[in-house]
Amino acid sequence: MASTVPSIERAARGVTSAPVLDFLRRPKRLLIGGKWVTAKSGKTFETINPANEEVLALVPEGDKADVDEAVKTARKAYEYGKWPTINPHQRAKYLLTIADLIEKHVDELAILETLNNGMAISLARGFTLMAADTFRYYAGWATKIYGETNPSDPSMFNYTLREPVGVCGQIIPWNGPIAMLAWKIAPALACGNVSILKPAEQTPLTALRIGELIMEADLPEGVVNIVTGYGETAGAAIASHPDIDKVAFTGSTEVGKLILQASSGNLKRVSLELGGKSPNIVFPDADLEDAVPTSLMGFCMLSGQVCCAGTRVFVQSDFHDRFVDHLTHYASKVKAGDPLDASTMVGPLVSKEQFNRVNGYIGTGKNEGAKTAIGGQVRTGKGFFVDPTIFTDVKNSMKIAREEIFGPVAAVIPFKDENDAVFQGNDTTYGLAAAVWTRDVSRAFRVARAIKAGTVWVNCYNNIDPISPFGGYKQSGIGRELGKHSLDLYTQIKSVYVKL
Ligand code: ADP
Repeated sequence: MASTVPSIERAARGVTSAPVLDFLRRPKRLLIGGKWVTAKSGKTFETINPANEEVLALVPEGDKADVDEAVKTARKAYEYGKWPTINPHQRAKYLLTIADLIEKHVDELAILETLNNGMAISLARGFTLMAADTFRYYAGWATKIYGETNPSDPSMFNYTLREPVGVCGQIIPWNGPIAMLAWKIAPALACGNVSILKPAEQTPLTALRIGELIMEADLPEGVVNIVTGYGETAGAAIASHPDIDKVAFTGSTEVGKLILQASSGNLKRVSLELGGKSPNIVFPDADLEDAVPTSLMGFCMLSGQVCCAGTRVFVQSDFHDRFVDHLTHYASKVKAGDPLDASTMVGPLVSKEQFNRVNGYIGTGKNEGAKTAIGGQVRTGKGFFVDPTIFTDVKNSMKIAREEIFGPVAAVIPFKDENDAVFQGNDTTYGLAAAVWTRDVSRAFRVARAIKAGTVWVNCYNNIDPISPFGGYKQSGIGRELGKHSLDLYTQIKSVYVKL
């Protein structure tokens, strides 16, 4: 049982938004079967503000017993409730209402996200609006989930139905909680499924607030359930539950593998969006005005805690020093600090654990012989701040170029020519994203094709839109979310033969 009594005045210092303060003061509960309930164990855990390390709230520590309860109620809603008989227009309307409510509460949600995660408030706002767009986008799909009529023998009529998968367990990470919630819940509902969502233990607050908005949208009870708790207990219970039909997970590759194993008991459908070590390849003909700041934010956005962060910056050898000078200069200008300040670009990391991990990797880089062009010092004082750090003299074989650091840390690595850039870029166990910077159109297309990654950006970075699929090659995941591709994750196909 957590012992610290949260002091909202300390933890949310500087916040004057009444809705945020009211929410923080309300007791936190699990959303199960349309009701807000305590964890069966009665336990709670602390959730903190990483900018000042103060406790923001006590949150129910849901575990297997609560997941069991959520599955029972979700199953009931899926099989016998109002939900399966609702027509697709009505499903679309629910999603549109949720989108409108998210947008209406954008300021409140963004502040809460920043308080709990540490991301810059401008980014939190952007993610919140993207979440609203994601609900709207899948509202459109709810009425466009088609089957086929097939060219069968004239004595038969054969058609297919695209049906929901059923009860979906959805486990999301702490790095973009509102956006990840939308990526999971919106397509699941559009396709007629029901959801049990588990937010990350570090950042449960915005999911609980959106749970309240979902209730306000009057969704039938049990269609969306939110169980807060730890990964090894609540998360593992979802992954292995015999009555959950599908698990969708975003998080580390390590945990993704555990989920895949745990889900084999009842052969759940599994989609995984995992880690990355994405190459950002810069040719000398790139537009530097754009390539430099965008490459920097490619690994500093959200303090680098982004699975698709461009943490391996490949630069052609003859242009390497010039580019590093520019990048370092720009890094020195990045506004890092209080994430609630509208002009801040880089806030703190999410937790002490991440802080230690990232500083550990910075130490490893130095020990491996890499040099810091900027950053690399361990910050003291309250809050888990790490300065943008750029390593040079890096070989692609070094640990800092192979493992996901999840902090504002990049390795700049020289390449000889296009083939070498592609070879080194692909020389990784990951394949989530990549970028290429060049004014040569043919080269841009060639590299985009040659890179083994789920998303390739040409002359841009970190652009993500619900209209287009997102997911990984190699150990960066299984399946594609967003775009029409989420429909494949959340539907299954039935073939019907009718003898005429
Ligand atoms: P990170 O390493 O970036 O913290 P994780 O992959 O550990 O990310 O966490 C992502 C999500 O997975 C969180 O919601 C977390 O609680 C959950 N999780 C962690 N371990 C497990 C597990 N063994 N089974 C299921 N979910 C887990």
